[in-house]
Amino acid sequence: MLGIIGAMNQEVDRLKAEMTEVTIEERASMSFYVGKLHGKDVVIVRSGVGKVNAAVCTQILADRYGVDKVINTGVAGSLQAKIDIGDIVVSTDALQHDVEATVFGYAPAEIPQLGRVSFTADEDLRKLTVVCCRQVNPEIGVHEGRVVSGDQFVSSDAVKARLKDLFDPYCTEMEGAAIAQACWLNDIPFVIIRAISDKADGSAQMDYDVFEAQAIEHTVRLVNALVSAI
Ligand code: SAH
Repeated sequence: MLGIIGAMNQEVDRLKAEMTEVTIEERASMSFYVGKLHGKDVVIVRSGVGKVNAAVCTQILADRYGVDKVINTGVAGSLQAKIDIGDIVVSTDALQHDVEATVFGYAPAEIPQLGRVSFTADEDLRKLTVVCCRQVNPEIGVHEGRVVSGDQFVSSDAVKARLKDLFDPYCTEMEGAAIAQACWLNDIPFVIIRAISDKADGSAQMDYDVFEAQAIEHTVRLVNALVSAI
């Protein structure tokens, strides 16, 4: 069983619409769509925005549906000049940029007593994602790199610069690293797929509103292709 998580309805509605043999189950105020997508057993769910929603959602996918892979799809802010609005970032790893216990000697984003800063995406899954992306979205860039997540919409040059200095990230969003950590705790391979809706700077909120739909177009095409290829 493959778990597919998007934070918002816009990110998963069209994937849900392509499912067959669907049953819907409610848990933790989330609707889990269980059925088939391109012949594969899947559960598609809208987690809600932010790390807590994302982690709760992932744990339910693990416990109730025994998923053996998790795909997180959605939009994100670019943190690299070479990554344009509309491009896709495929996670190499993910960390929570708002974890901060450096006063005890931990590295920035290191989770105390867990011994980890970041969580590594499944290599086979991410390589396959890149291949599929080049096939179905040939007109855009696909970039493999680090995703940083936090409970904040990043929309200033100062915050963006801090993230870049500390973590050398490719994009920022609000769920991926929580899903990554929950997958790591449960030993489930994952990949985060994010299309760029904004540049996480002073224009981010304006850009986001204009480009969200176009960015999601690219992830929907990609996730459909990836599920077919898995
Ligand atoms: N427009 C929505 C809020 C979106 S919050 C509303 O009005 O309710 C932003 C969502 O997109 C989150 O799910 C996050 O994962 C992603 N995202 C895109 N750009 C981001 C950025 N610059 N910083 C943080 N998250 C971003």
